[in-house]
Amino acid sequence: MEKTLVIIKPGAIQRELVGEVISRFERKGLQLCGFKMIQLTDEVLAEHYAHLAHKPFFKRIKEGMMITPVIVCCLKGIDAVHIVHQMAGKTNGREAVQGTIRGDFSVSVQENIVHTSDSLDTAEIELNRFFKPEEIFEYKQNNFGFLYANDEF
Ligand code: ADP
Repeated sequence: MEKTLVIIKPGAIQRELVGEVISRFERKGLQLCGFKMIQLTDEVLAEHYAHLAHKPFFKRIKEGMMITPVIVCCLKGIDAVHIVHQMAGKTNGREAVQGTIRGDFSVSVQENIVHTSDSLDTAEIELNRFFKPEEIFEYKQNNFGFLYANDEF
């Protein structure tokens, strides 16, 4: 089973979309294994967005992520990284397909509601960045037998 990271960004907190976003992942069948509100810092954002350090909007996106606390989530399931990334949609909310989170709730490149890990390797690094091991929980999912067929896990 894969685990992946979602960050519910300040824009979603302000627009009161936290329940909507979490509900989509729950309804899909992903298991919530970690969930907490944190205040991001310039230091952790510089690491998280290091691949964008050369961009003119680097400072702006870091500032935007610190305007309010964010919610970080760990979601688990078969192919969870791919599923969650697909459910977020393209970076630019104006181009993201309807039915995706960004397609349904964003009209912006920067203000795009969620961050999701883009690969299995990234997910591991990002989960370690935002969660202590004891903040990620293993527990039995009661509806498991109705989410997957026996030969799928
Ligand atoms: P994604 O979040 O889709 O994986 P990136 O890693 O490329 O995309 O970018 C990280 C975040 O930086 C985006 O989610 C978005 O909030 C912001 N961002 C990316 N490109 C731009 C841009 N051209 N202008 C403003 N903000 C941007």
